[in-house]
Amino acid sequence: MARKPLLAGNWKMNLNHLEAITLVEGLAAELRDSNFDYDTADVVVIPPFTDIRSVQTVVESEDLRIAYGAQDISVHESGAYTGEVSAEMLSKLGVTYVVVGHSERREYHQESDALVGEKARVALKAGMTPIICCGEGLDVRKAGEHVSHVLKQIEGALEGIPASDVVKSVIAYEPIWAIGTGEVATPEDAQEVCEAIRKRVAELYDQATADALRVLYGGSVKSSNAAQIMSKPDVDGALVGGASLKADEFAKIVNFEG
Ligand code: PEP
Repeated sequence: MARKPLLAGNWKMNLNHLEAITLVEGLAAELRDSNFDYDTADVVVIPPFTDIRSVQTVVESEDLRIAYGAQDISVHESGAYTGEVSAEMLSKLGVTYVVVGHSERREYHQESDALVGEKARVALKAGMTPIICCGEGLDVRKAGEHVSHVLKQIEGALEGIPASDVVKSVIAYEPIWAIGTGEVATPEDAQEVCEAIRKRVAELYDQATADALRVLYGGSVKSSNAAQIMSKPDVDGALVGGASLKADEFAKIVNFEG
């Protein structure tokens, strides 16, 4: 079954709201100049919370057909949760994607698979698409346990999520040893794990759910390697960190230009 590729740029804790405006305006110009065909891929930018309102303004004023997302979400609806941002606050700003369980949040904020799953459910309930991240560290990869490690993360995160919501979700396989290191997984490495994720989803749910689910690769993706990785049958796009901070480079990635 044909799945539309998804290219998502995770800005992490980079760019203030003025720099965000410059980047999205630059991306709009690049997409226009390259005659980007919006039917070929979905494009999402994922800025820090403080930039979202500015990104919304540029997207609307430029009539840009890209989506924008958030890098995290609170599991709480409202109230005394200092520093947290609710699903309602995000969807009110037109946010349609939410990254949950990025390895940096798992590591620095001790986020468990259960919490990641809860965040995914909260995003889905508010009509947003969770991008559920998973991935192994170098020690796990060296021990040859990367597939079982990732499948355990996915099983934990998907617990309690019905098939009707899984098809609306996105999974991003991001080996930690490849994030921000310049060390990209080979297309075969990415395919091995993305295929295993899809097979496990078919076992947990059914084949139609697995066939509809988009599974991305993330980890040092840039224009010179993106097309090769995304040519693999179970890799439906990329979650891009550093290379999404430059409009021309991200535009090349979404245009599948090497
Ligand atoms: C990421 O932050 O999810 C990521 C993949 O980063 P980078 O592309 O910089 O490795």
